[in-house]
Amino acid sequence: TLSDRLAGVFTGLRGKGRLSPADIDATAREIRIALLEADVALPVVRQFIAAIKERASGEELSQALNPAQQVIKIVNEELIAILGGETRRLEFAKTPPTVIMLAGLQGAGKTTLAGKLARWLKGQGHTPLLVAADLQRPNAVTQLQVVGEQAGVTVFAPDPGNTSGVEISGPGGDPVAVSRNGVAEAKAKLHDVVIVDTAGRLGVDADMMQQAASIRDAVDPDEILFVVDAMIGQDAVTTAEAFRDGVGFTGVVLTKLDGDARGGAALSVRQVTGAPIMFASTGEKLSDFDTFHPDRMAARILGMGDMLTLIEQAEQVFEQQEAEEMAAKLAGDDFTLDDFLQQMQMLKRMGPIGGLLGMLPGAGQMKEALANVDDRDVDRTAAIIQSMTPEERANPKIINASRRQRIARGSGMTVSQVNGLVERFFEARKMMSSMAGQFGMRRLSGKSK
Ligand code: GDP
Ligand code: MG
Repeated sequence: TLSDRLAGVFTGLRGKGRLSPADIDATAREIRIALLEADVALPVVRQFIAAIKERASGEELSQALNPAQQVIKIVNEELIAILGGETRRLEFAKTPPTVIMLAGLQGAGKTTLAGKLARWLKGQGHTPLLVAADLQRPNAVTQLQVVGEQAGVTVFAPDPGNTSGVEISGPGGDPVAVSRNGVAEAKAKLHDVVIVDTAGRLGVDADMMQQAASIRDAVDPDEILFVVDAMIGQDAVTTAEAFRDGVGFTGVVLTKLDGDARGGAALSVRQVTGAPIMFASTGEKLSDFDTFHPDRMAARILGMGDMLTLIEQAEQVFEQQEAEEMAAKLAGDDFTLDDFLQQMQMLKRMGPIGGLLGMLPGAGQMKEALANVDDRDVDRTAAIIQSMTPEERANPKIINASRRQRIARGSGMTVSQVNGLVERFFEARKMMSSMAGQFGMRRLSGKSK
């Protein structure tokens, strides 16, 4: 696994204060091999490695972590990003029923998924109807009826006794008509979701695509879920591309993640098709199913759940210490422009309600003064402060008109922007000392409430 590969590299990194270019190369090489072994598509591997290298050699490295932890953190974050970041939810139609169409190869797990999805939706108060539009395999309709019964939902299937020639179960029946009638049935019986199970083939096949496209056109689905077996590795990408071009889809469902799938399919499919992975199937039982969480999948691919928790804790502790030091300083008179800048950057990093502000009494007021900080604002402030001499930063009172002109020229800002910043600094300092007076220094350090 990726974690086994990385473990070897980390032994070499132990004891080092920082990452050398050679360390980064060695790490990148191991990650590359691990990803290829996990069946990740080559273009995806390339892009991934480039991102890791760039970040590992960049300046964003956290002081809270040792080099090995930093690499794990970066790899983990890039994995999450490549897996889509956030979980995407189902989109429900404004006017019910919401039509969800399933597409994918035979054996991918569509029919099983139909049952899982129905059960899951029912658990959330929906009233799904399953539509059996796989008339290819002799047992497909019965199979859907079985999972429908397990899920406790109604199944719309062509009537085997019907000899009208339109809706015949089994080869020769018309899956498009069944799908259309299924949606009509859902409307009539007030089901708010329709799940259309379709036929697959063993391989990508023009007939299958044509049929799926016709069903799509007949039922105008709100979601088309491409169902893919995570065990098929590299083939997942070619299959996904064929379905994207032949039918199109709005989301991906990975099945058989309980097997020893190495995650390569997940990484590749998302990256190559751009469609979000929405659900994961992890067994044959209807309950073996959940929404897909990129962070959990990344942890699984990395195989380092405990290490990730440790990293998170180390960073939190570090941020808290940083915040406490800052809080102590705020209360003093020696609050400098460097502190001001550091604080803005910290706020930007933590978000307006994080860390420091959360620890301070009177946080509301403070937020108004300091948290109206957008990224450009922080950058501008940084530019201005960086054009000041160390003396000016430590003792802002000396910044007179001619110094302001020099700072403006140096930072590419106007004199009035420099004035604005200096004014804001003094306001902030005044507010802080008044707050310090109000609450006392000990309380400001965040130790008591
Ligand atoms: P379909 O042809 O796409 O409709 O696929 P099926 O739903 O009939 O599933 C094919 C086989 O895979 C069946 O034996 C299912 O029990 C099995 N299956 C489906 N999903 C999963 C899963 O997540 N894990 C495991 N282990 N088996 C699954
Ligand atoms: Mg099926």
